[in-house]
Amino acid sequence: MRIAFLGLGQMGAAIARNILNAGHELTVWNRSPDKAATLVAAGAQQRGTPAEAAEGAEIVFTMLADDRAVEAVTFGENGLLTAKDGPVHVGLSTISLDLARKLTEAQGQHYASAPVFGRPNVAAAAKLNIVAAGPEAVLAKAQPIFAAIGQRVLPVGDAPLLANLVKLCGNFMIMASLEAMGEALALAEKNGLDKAKLFEVLTGTLFGSAVFTNYGPAMLERSFRPAGFPAPLGLKDMNLVNAAATDSRVPMPLLGTVREHLLQTIGQQGEDVDWSAIVGTIAANAGL
Ligand code: NAP
Repeated sequence: MRIAFLGLGQMGAAIARNILNAGHELTVWNRSPDKAATLVAAGAQQRGTPAEAAEGAEIVFTMLADDRAVEAVTFGENGLLTAKDGPVHVGLSTISLDLARKLTEAQGQHYASAPVFGRPNVAAAAKLNIVAAGPEAVLAKAQPIFAAIGQRVLPVGDAPLLANLVKLCGNFMIMASLEAMGEALALAEKNGLDKAKLFEVLTGTLFGSAVFTNYGPAMLERSFRPAGFPAPLGLKDMNLVNAAATDSRVPMPLLGTVREHLLQTIGQQGEDVDWSAIVGTIAANAGL
């Protein structure tokens, strides 16, 4: 298939590489053009604007940092919607429900949301879990690409924003899980119990979860650099959850706690730590 891919950050570059590896014809665009070099060397075509990259593509994928980036690339000057033929657009980014609505209603494209669970190493291994929602025809068309980049597609409905809602709920749950485990680890350590022992008992009995398997080493060693998922992106997501909760009048007090800890983490430890560094903040607050 002829595929266009817009956004070659940590996630996008890894995903685009797997599309190329699966034998598809790939055109790429990134705001900072130098990030396309490796893909171009591997056979991708590079274009100067999102619209040029989208030209003639059967599907355009976007994998961009946040709402602002997706807005600029879709609706901005030389954006996706100025491409000649109304493109099929599959959005992989973690964005707000409001923007998913706007993308769905926009004239001049056929849109589906397909945000992903999995960090850049998981993306590189083509093992992402893809949560998909949108018109059946769009999802069917994207199926071969989903197969090339992920291990599983989880369809959740016809309205694209439903997939974004699942992604936001999932990221909130990851943060809440890290908060709970972080507090338990601090309590154990403060009282003379080997925190690795507590972790082993809890994850081996009641709390066997991929979240703890993935984040266990970082939590136990309190090693949060380099960031797989930078804390500022995590804060962006907690703000998106907060907007959805506020709009729909759902009190989420736990969200308030993890959001504050994430903000404190970035303030104290810098912009380049992983979001799991809230565990370090919790330990520091306990005097550890
Ligand atoms: P990243 O490495 O920071 O890459 C961000 C991408 O967005 C880059 O291509 C960047 O372009 C582009 N961008 C940022 N602002 C822009 C703007 N105003 N206009 C145009 N392009 C802009 O982030 P990532 O880790 O790949 O994450 C991408 C998305 O995936 C986010 O929505 C994130 O929440 C989600 N996600 C991430 C992970 C993870 O573990 N990292 C996991 C699941 C989902 P430049 O190169 O020019 O800066």
